[in-house]
Amino acid sequence: MRRYVFNGNIETLKREYYDVIIVGSGIAGLYTALNLDKKLRCAVLSKAEIEKSSSWLAQGGIAAVVSKEDKAQCHFHDTIVAGAGLCDEESVKVLVNEGPGDIQQLMAMNVPFDLSEEGDLHITREGGHTRNRIVHCGGDATGRETVKTLAAIASTRSNISLLENVFLSDILTSQDKAAGVIVADKDGYKVMVSPNVVISTGGIGQVYAHTTNPIGATGDGIAAALRAGANVRNMEFIQFHPTAFYKPDESGQSFLISEAVRGEGGILRNIQGECFMKGKHPMKDLAPRDIVTRAIAEEMIKTNGKYVFVDITSKSEEFLVKRFPTIFNECKKHGINISKQWIPVYPVQHYLMGGIAVNLHSMTNIKGLYVTGESSCTGVHGANRLASNSLLECMVFGRRCAQHINKNKHEASYDYKFQNITVENSNLDITHLKKTIKHIMVQKGGIARNGTGLREGLEQVGGILNDLNIIEFKTRESIELFNIAIIAGAILEAAVARNSNVGAHFRMDA
Ligand SMILES: Cc1cc2nc3c(=O)[nH]c(=O)nc-3n(C[C@H](O)[C@H](O)[C@H](O)COP(=O)(O)OP(=O)(O)OC[C@H]3O[C@@H](n4cnc5c(N)ncnc54)[C@H](O)[C@@H]3O)c2cc1C
Repeated sequence: MRRYVFNGNIETLKREYYDVIIVGSGIAGLYTALNLDKKLRCAVLSKAEIEKSSSWLAQGGIAAVVSKEDKAQCHFHDTIVAGAGLCDEESVKVLVNEGPGDIQQLMAMNVPFDLSEEGDLHITREGGHTRNRIVHCGGDATGRETVKTLAAIASTRSNISLLENVFLSDILTSQDKAAGVIVADKDGYKVMVSPNVVISTGGIGQVYAHTTNPIGATGDGIAAALRAGANVRNMEFIQFHPTAFYKPDESGQSFLISEAVRGEGGILRNIQGECFMKGKHPMKDLAPRDIVTRAIAEEMIKTNGKYVFVDITSKSEEFLVKRFPTIFNECKKHGINISKQWIPVYPVQHYLMGGIAVNLHSMTNIKGLYVTGESSCTGVHGANRLASNSLLECMVFGRRCAQHINKNKHEASYDYKFQNITVENSNLDITHLKKTIKHIMVQKGGIARNGTGLREGLEQVGGILNDLNIIEFKTRESIELFNIAIIAGAILEAAVARNSNVGAHFRMDA
């Protein structure tokens, strides 16, 4: 694979200098920035506006032990069970033990968590949790309220520059150390030199035809880190959310019907109106996501339906409007009053459990290159993420990343190695190739997989990658296509290698 997608004269590019560059302004990027030493000059980049992230869309909430009835040991146990035994136990201990402290920090920052009538944090339950432990804001607008609060604080810090519409193309390295990034903004390419680069670019949902992730979730940071020589792990573990609203938009983005709806009593029914989770798992409708997803997929085949339903008509309109204002209004826009009608749902790509391999301080195998949030693989999710553990991971490991950078300042290297390659002028049809990859991933790297299909998919994606590897990337969309192809290849390669049936990786031939 080529090392860089930028292929011009780097020496002529404008240069800017920072102590820390964070690529991504979701909760991982923002929380990392806010935990940095205020003396460090930091740029936080996002490829679009700050609202266009998975963090902004997060509904259900953040899992953490915040009540006397709950214990870190229980949260640890639930996480390990959901992860199908493949979680990294040290990382999970850090997550569950340190998480409540980060919730305290969010409260101190005035994140507007919903409170009970007694004035305590209101906590709810989601799939796979044996206790109520999900804190939330604005009913089902946890992500939006948290991002708004963190971004408002970041914008007042003189050491932090929040830069929107700045697109990461490449990570620069010098003698196996991070040296900065090459980015493109409205004025063209520029180099941002920094000894500390933090990748917080979120998920990879746009590799699949249907996803809850926003249009920008093309895996740019993971692909750039791979090109720079970073190691990935667990890429085969893709979480398909069981309940997205059955009406994707043109980009393939589907609106999420949060698990919290089932946490509040919602039940699944097939198109004939039958409940089908009984006997599938002791936790029935609140079983871990991979189990519910497969049960729905089976039910759709059995009934020849394109969807199943979530039935929350047991709750009053008054309750639902208050508890799930975003979901209530979105469904209403599509003519469904969820207090009276069932919600049509289907499983779609939702989350990447794997990513760039990092240690307990979010460090990669490249000195000075850190990864936080969904792009990282800390090992806390194993083969299947426990609901609402991802925002917690963004914070716990984002703070740890910042603390490590605060303690270990690296000297900046300006002698990054950069080499041009000979490229071809090409007329590849980007839209068509994107669709092709997304289709391959649904068919061969989707909910149910088998060795033959995975190998075929890998070969097909490999062919596309070879074509892209030698072209001149003239647009942002063409770089995103290359990144999608790199990520699809990494997922399929890992899925071929894991010839067993575990967690979200369901091999029908194993
Ligand atoms: C609909 C939905 C609901 C969810 N609900 C929950 C929930 O209730 N609880 C929970 O724990 N988790 C939830 N999740 C998962 C969770 O929201 C994500 O895992 C988490 O927000 C990821 O945060 P992040 O900061 O890593 O990435 P994101 O929030 O996705 O941010 C990525 C950032 O990277 C930037 N970026 C990407 N590529 C580039 C590039 N090339 N150049 C510059 N910038 C770039 C983007 O612009 C963006 O600012 C949900 C996810 C979705 C999609």
